[in-house]
Amino acid sequence: MTELLLTEEETMLRSAVRELAESELAPRAAHYDQTCEFPWENVKGMAEMGLLGLGIGEEYGGSGGTTRQLVVAVEEVARACAATATVLGAHLSLCAQYINMFGTEGQKREFIPPLVSGEKIGAFALTEPGSGSDAAAMRATGKLSNGGYVLNGSKTFITNAPEAGTMVVMATRDRSMGARGVNAFIVEADSPGITIDPLHGKMGIRASSAAEVVFDGCAVPAENRMGEDGDGFRMTMEVLNASRMSIAAQCVGIAQAAYDAALAYVKQREAFGKKLAEFQGLQWYLVDMATGIETSRLLTLKAATLKDQGRPFVTEASMAKLYCSRVAVECADKAVQMHGGAGYFAPTNVERYYRDAKVQEIYEGTTEIQRLIIARNLLRE
Ligand SMILES: Cc1cc2nc3c(=O)[nH]c(=O)nc-3n(C[C@H](O)[C@H](O)[C@H](O)COP(=O)(O)OP(=O)(O)OC[C@H]3O[C@@H](n4cnc5c(N)ncnc54)[C@H](O)[C@@H]3O)c2cc1C
Repeated sequence: MTELLLTEEETMLRSAVRELAESELAPRAAHYDQTCEFPWENVKGMAEMGLLGLGIGEEYGGSGGTTRQLVVAVEEVARACAATATVLGAHLSLCAQYINMFGTEGQKREFIPPLVSGEKIGAFALTEPGSGSDAAAMRATGKLSNGGYVLNGSKTFITNAPEAGTMVVMATRDRSMGARGVNAFIVEADSPGITIDPLHGKMGIRASSAAEVVFDGCAVPAENRMGEDGDGFRMTMEVLNASRMSIAAQCVGIAQAAYDAALAYVKQREAFGKKLAEFQGLQWYLVDMATGIETSRLLTLKAATLKDQGRPFVTEASMAKLYCSRVAVECADKAVQMHGGAGYFAPTNVERYYRDAKVQEIYEGTTEIQRLIIARNLLRE
């Protein structure tokens, strides 16, 4: 149904990304999941199609385009390989877009083109061992010294960090100032004073990498700070508000993949002399999944449309992230259940969807934090 709401251009983009996803990303997904290898080939394919520059101006090497186009594309990528969608999200929506939204002209011209071409991988470093949801409580410091800044402290769970060339890093100049003390820096990952320790044992989205990033006297030029002094927390929240729609789209993709697998399975598997699809109990699971997916897609598209129209979108973006991540988890759960024992083993893919879905309720603002944002906005209205 949602295709009725897409423009011709959006429909064409969806077809093109679906073709890449079905011919290249999906066939590699299980291998990348099992080996936990970074999906370089997928990144290359997405770069060639211009997906790494969606929403970024052509003057910086980007492909232009709207938030609606972004969510349409991300859904297709995630439907084939959620880990690749995670890599894309951290690279584009958190790192390149941060620079695009808040960088100076010089910063944009220097740092965005290698990101959209895929020559460099981008990462976004906010979370610390002692602060995630309460991001303003960060301990990593960025203090002025000899006309530049010096970073000290640790960031953790940083997606893409092991492969990153460019990182956006948040650090405080004075912890006692809370959110008002935070600055955002563009940091080259090979700078002296940075140690990147890859983290292993992730439940899902295993082909996306994550690391702890330790700064020990890392010098950053003053011109690599984005925004005004002390504006880093506000800018970061704005970036996260926008990137939430990309996570919501990722969830729709995972849920759709789970539904597709479940539907195909119940049409061919038999029990008690009938196809599973003939049992009303399982039909109702399919109904709930399809309804949840359609609602999720519409909610995501609504939030993206509001943003594209320059209207307030933050409540809807949080609603989309909250709702779609639950639908992804529920659809993956149902898909495993409908596969019975086979669903617990890798060849069916649904166990991967189940593992890939859970993190969607955790990163880029947990379910509880989305509720906090939505409640605050509802009470303010
Ligand atoms: C795979 C993965 C990739 C990630 N990638 C990145 C990345 O690239 N960059 C980055 O900066 N971070 C990244 N993160 C970190 C992620 O954003 C945080 O884990 C998340 O924001 C939660 O923070 P926390 O882990 O410190 O949990 P906590 O903040 O300690 O929360 C623990 C629990 O308490 C709940 N809680 C906390 N405060 C409240 C409250 N006020 N009311 C109700 N409940 C509350 C939370 O919702 C959660 O359920 C990643 C995480 C994962 C798992």
